[in-house]
Order: sequence, then structure tokens, then C-alpha cells
Amino acid sequence: MIKNKGFLFYLKNTMELKEIQTKNGKIIVFCNLEDLLKESCGVKTIEEVESVADKSGDEYIIHCPFCKKEGHTKHKLYIKDDLTVGHCFVCTRAFVNITDTLKPEINVPKVFTNFGNTMPKFELAQMNDPTFSIDQYKYEFDDFDERGYRYLLKRHSFFEDLYKALGIKFWNGNVVIPFLHNGEPYYYQIRFTSGSNKIRYFLPQVKPQKPCYMIERDDIACRRRILIVEGIFDAIAALIQCPDYTPVAVLGSSISDYQISQIREYTDYVSEIKIWMDETSISKKIARRLRSIIDYCPISIIKSYGPDPEEVMKDRLNKHLELQWIKPKENIYENDIQNNSGLGSESS
Ligand SMILES: [Zn+2]
Repeated sequence: MIKNKGFLFYLKNTMELKEIQTKNGKIIVFCNLEDLLKESCGVKTIEEVESVADKSGDEYIIHCPFCKKEGHTKHKLYIKDDLTVGHCFVCTRAFVNITDTLKPEINVPKVFTNFGNTMPKFELAQMNDPTFSIDQYKYEFDDFDERGYRYLLKRHSFFEDLYKALGIKFWNGNVVIPFLHNGEPYYYQIRFTSGSNKIRYFLPQVKPQKPCYMIERDDIACRRRILIVEGIFDAIAALIQCPDYTPVAVLGSSISDYQISQIREYTDYVSEIKIWMDETSISKKIARRLRSIIDYCPISIIKSYGPDPEEVMKDRLNKHLELQWIKPKENIYENDIQNNSGLGSESS
């Protein structure tokens, strides 16, 4: 009993509903729909939800948390059982699922014998989200928004010039960062600019798999040097600190086979790979993964003692240290830059 109570308490404290009111008055709520269902049903697993929740066709019907708060008693929130979207027929709020785990729709073979001809043909990821599309980025999102712009400048002043170059747009005051392929947007991340919430960003659904965020370079030498980081803002900070590389954000703490084939598609020949994750142990794991696939180019790690590339950049700015401190070396060997930890130490 106490255990159960504790669990509900836990849910109340972690369950988050992020409301965005769009310009046409529609309210979109971003939340983890699985958590919302479990909380509403007072159960711990989605299997239990299946046995206790009301259902109509392929939709669960639960009490909308907003309507509940306002005292409405009717249960009119319909949630698709694939946990993608929901709609409340009383308050008309639209619900959009937010989660870090995107379900891949096709399986890419686990092991590639090398980085060469045996790789399956790369298929560029495509948005297949019920609420968001690439056309919205192209035709509906704003080229400029005061709140969104201020958010970017608060992160760092380089955004003053960079936001346009990176194709950043705005959606109801939030920042939209496009993923480009040969300069063409095909996907985006929405970064929420208000509130101190746990829900900080949203990645729309995509098929066949989650791509990596890559800042495409024109220069052929830069295209052949890959610098792997965790998140989009890390990649942007890496662009400033490592201008001779192509920054690639894997959007998590591991690199998928799909993302490796995306890198390969971008650069026909990789001359060097550096990995700069927030934790050195994670970088090492990714390095091992890459070495099992690419055995002909140097793969090295930029050690981290905690801060991410954006924090390192800001700290170097404050300390008046050289900003573009990560440079390629001819004939670089593994461990060459292992003593470089970023803060306080100039590159040797
Ligand atoms: Zn409602």
C-alpha cells in the first residue's frame, strides 16, 4: 500500500505536461502519453493499462488532466493506442507524445563487416509525425521571433550570426533547428524556450530511424573529419571550437548503425574521427563501436571531466583561452590528444 502511494507520488512529481498555445489559438500539450495513461489508471505498466482502461477502437479513453483540474467530470481524452497522439473533446487540447525512444520501423543489419561496399544503401530519414511536418518548417514557422532569438543569445552570443546560417526558425516562440541533407531541411528538433521544465525539446516522429544532426561543410577536408558529440547545441559549440571538422550530434549516448551509415553517406572517405561526449567513458564506448566498423582512420577521444562542449566553450571565452583549440593533425595517432581536457589547458 505504501509502495503504491509512493509510486503515485513519484508520478505526480515527474509527470510533466508542457502546454504550447499556437497563434491560431490551438493548445498542444507535450507529454509522455505512456506515463499519462499509467498515472490516470493508477498502474505501473502499459500492460495493466490495457486491462483497466476504457477503450474505443484503437483509442484509450481517460480523464483529461486539465479538465479534471477544472472540475469537468466527463472522461473525453482519447489517446491512440500506439501512444502517438491524443485529443480531448471537452477542452479541445491536442496531446503529443514526447519520448527519447523512437521506434525504428525497419531493422538495419547489426553488423557491417566494414565501412565499404557491404553497407546497405542509405535511406534518408523522413518525418512521419501526426502533428508536425517538414512543410511546416518550410512554409509556416517564423523566420524571426523575439523570445526565441533572446533564448539563443542567452545561450551564447555566436547565435547572433549563426542562427540564420544554421537555418534556425521559430514556432510560437520556440526554437526550431533543422537537420539538413545537401542543404535541404528534412527533419527538425523543437527546443522549448520557456519554463524550467524537464521537457526541454521535442523530436517529431521519423522513419526509418532517428538520424544524427550534422552541420554540413563545403570544404572537402572538413567533410572528411568527423567530430561526434551528444546534442545539437554541443554540435554548434563544436563547430566554433573545431572549425576544421564536421560536427555530428548522435542525440543520445550511443551511435546507431543507421547514424554510422548516414555519416558514411555524407563523407565518402573518413580521414579522422574525434569523439567528445560529456563523459569520457561514453566516448570510449562509441570509439569501440566505430573501430569495429571503420578500421582505416584514426579515432580519438577528447577527454571530458563533466562539462559539455558548449560549457567548455563558454569557460574558455571567460578565461580568454584560445577558442579554436581543437585542430586536426597530420598523421594523427590514437591518444594524440588524450591529454587535452579543454578547460585550462591549451592544446599541445
Ligand atoms: Zn480536456
